Formats: sequence, C-alpha cells, structure tokens
Amino acid sequence: MAAASMLALAACSGGSGDGGEGGGDGGLVGVAMPTKSSERWIQDGDAVKAQLEEQGFTVDLQYAEDDIPTQVSQIENMITKGAEALIIASIDGTTLSQVLQDAADADIPVIAYDRLIRDSENVDYYASFDNYVVGVQQATSLLNGLGLTDLEGEPAADAPKGPFNIELFAGSPDDNNATFFWNGAIDTLQPLIDDGTLVVKSGQTDFEQAATLRWDGEVAQERMENILTSTYSDGSQVNAILSPYDGLSRGIISALTDAGYTVGEGWPIISGQDAEIDSVKAINSGEQFSTIFKDTRQLAEVAVNMASAILNDEEVEVNNTEDYDNGVKVVPSYLLESQIVVKDNITDVLVDSGYWTEEEING
Ligand code: BGC
Repeated sequence: MAAASMLALAACSGGSGDGGEGGGDGGLVGVAMPTKSSERWIQDGDAVKAQLEEQGFTVDLQYAEDDIPTQVSQIENMITKGAEALIIASIDGTTLSQVLQDAADADIPVIAYDRLIRDSENVDYYASFDNYVVGVQQATSLLNGLGLTDLEGEPAADAPKGPFNIELFAGSPDDNNATFFWNGAIDTLQPLIDDGTLVVKSGQTDFEQAATLRWDGEVAQERMENILTSTYSDGSQVNAILSPYDGLSRGIISALTDAGYTVGEGWPIISGQDAEIDSVKAINSGEQFSTIFKDTRQLAEVAVNMASAILNDEEVEVNNTEDYDNGVKVVPSYLLESQIVVKDNITDVLVDSGYWTEEEING
C-alpha cells in the first residue's frame, strides 16, 4: 500500500511560462488519452478537461485510438501549440522517449496519467491507483466468489476444498500497469495453486501466455475459446477466470456463452476492472462476479492538482516515492485506493458516490 502522504517539491522546470501564465489565467495544458474504445478513458478525459477548465486552463484533449504514432504526433502538436504542461495516459509506456525529450527541451513538465511512462527521465510525476493492490483485489474477489474467503481475503469458515479450475488473463504487455495487476493477483492465488485448491488446467500460467495486447476484448474472447476447446472439451468446467479489465471480461463471457455455459448452472466466477456500465449490468445479472472501481474523478483531480501546482511553483503532493521505477528513475507518485465491487455493494460504491445512477445501471 501507499506510504503516508508526503510532499515533494515541484523540482521540475516548466514553471509559469511567458508573462507569468499558468494556473488560473488560461495557459494551455495538453491531455493525451489512449483510446475512446473504452468508456473509462472517456470519463478520464472529460473529468481532466472539466477540472482543468475550472482552474482556468485551456485544454487540448486528444485520443489516439490505441495507435502509437498518432499519440506521438498528438503530443508533438501540443508542444508546438505551446502547451505549458502535458498529462499523458500512454498507449505503450516505452515509446514516448523522443517526444518527451522535445517537451523537456521546451521546459514542459510531464505528468504520467494512470499508466507509468517508461524509459525516460522526462517524466516529472505519476498519478495512478495502487496497481499492485488492484491485482490483489481482483484475485481476492475470485476467492470470495468461490466461497474460499471474504472480500478482505480472510478464509471462510466452511470453505469448500475444491479443486477449482481457474484460467488466467493479463493485460497489455506494453502497459506498465499490466504486470502490477498480474503480480498482485498471482501473489494472492499462488499459495492456493501450490496447495492444489486452484488448478490452472490449461497450464498457461506465464504472464506472456496470459497477456492481451492492447487490452483487446476480441483477443481475450479468442483465447478463451481456444482454451475451452483445448482444455475443457472433456466435460470438465472452468470455475473461475482472472480477468484484469471489464472489456476482456465481456469477451470471455461471449466465449463461454458460445460454448454453451449458462448463468446459474456452473457459470464461472469472473473478475474485471473499471466498473464500466455494461459490466456493472453484467454483475447485476450474474454474468460477471466482480469489478474493481477506480474513481476516475479522483484521479483527474490528482493529475490536475499536480499540473496546477507545478505551473504555480507550489509543492506537488505525492504519497509514494519507491514503487514506480520507470527504468531510468523512480517517478514520484500519488496512488489512490480502489474498491472491489460485487452485486451486493453496487449501490453503496457506485450509486451513492454518484458514479452511476440507478437508472443507468438498470436501464
Ligand atoms: C488501466 C485500467 C484499464 C486498462 C485497459 C490500464 O492501464 O489502469 O484501468 O482497465 O488500462 O484500458
């Protein structure tokens, strides 16, 4: 978990720009988001833009549809337009070194948003969630769904013995978060794999085997179909599926349905992430067991406050200066907390916080 809150000096360059521009007087901030194909990034983009505008900034918000050259040229363009700061959720965390050098040469500070930007010294701060804990929560929710633990991971009194068949999916290998989610999940599941309670029947236990390039739901669907054909055509059933993102979970659900699985009759426990509306509905209907809620409004607030503090030569608040080494340096980070969502707490967590309305969930 993140260490106690601490303050780091806004040591980076970038400052307030010509004529004392900066927070509150309309300086331009460039916001680069990966794709509109997933709802969460649309919410992130909207929240960052609205909050920057509230603070008086002008915003150039761009989406790159998961195409790396497009994202690079969007960021180049922001630099050319005179952006005073950049907030970037990268597609591939390793491909921005040159454009970030250009930003540094122009004294533009850079905040990595949600995904760490790797292999560059020109990343000033990182705003994210505790991604390892997200993975722990995903795995814990599966154990809870199987009746083995409660949602805090405490063993259940009358836990079934198993064995349970489980299959493992990971995120995009070029996204730094994917290994954090995976490590958190595997550290949680491994003792139960070792003692035989959980069996990865396909034998596909490596990150490389489980990874899903670009977090593509269709790729996950195809892999699930292949696993069902190769491993479960002997009449055995898959009981749990580690999925690190709602969009993958929906692909996995389609594969199961196509293979004849039916909700309520041996339907597996499936995790997710992001509390996307279609997946919240799927949790309500029993197709998906859980998701992880990461409040994009809070993340936007952290990133916007970082940008504003840098541009106003104020201290930037961080709470982790250890865990996010990007290969060149440890990037000072602010990590938020995430929450497990299951059917029983949808209202408490998602409706009461104003993230989704009852109508959106039931509509
Ligand atoms: C984000 C997740 C998201 C995934 C796919 C990750 O970097 O942290 O919230 O599910 O990308 O978009």
